[in-house]
Amino acid sequence: MDTPCNCGQIKSLGFRTVIYGNQIKIKHVPVWECEQCGLYEVFPKIKQDLRKLLVQLKDEGRVSVYFDEYNELTDVMYEVYQESIYKEADADTYLLEVSERCKERINLLLDVYGYAKQQKDKQWMDQLMSRLSQLTFTPAEAT
Ligand SMILES: [Zn+2]
Repeated sequence: MDTPCNCGQIKSLGFRTVIYGNQIKIKHVPVWECEQCGLYEVFPKIKQDLRKLLVQLKDEGRVSVYFDEYNELTDVMYEVYQESIYKEADADTYLLEVSERCKERINLLLDVYGYAKQQKDKQWMDQLMSRLSQLTFTPAEAT
């Protein structure tokens, strides 16, 4: 999962545990890292959702969670990452596959949304909408 870094070296995408205030641990967060220049940057597209989750966790007093269980894009990213052919691939190949899988996931969730709407289940519809909103992703938004 390598791609050129601004410093001229190579940065790579991995899934890391992010720790806040020495107590809240969020696992499986996608992060860009470069050994050469010390870059350590949370994947841009999920930054806002990560911040929201942090606020939510503080409110709930929870200390350890998996980010892919809260974030639909990260869930797709982690799923692809665990497949060995993509683990060894360059970042472009990986991210292209991620964006394809996002489209598939969107179609799947839209089907489920149609069903929830038929059932007039407002809470379920809202929940699906929020999952759908996390899935719009193109490789150009990766860095
Ligand atoms: Zn660098």
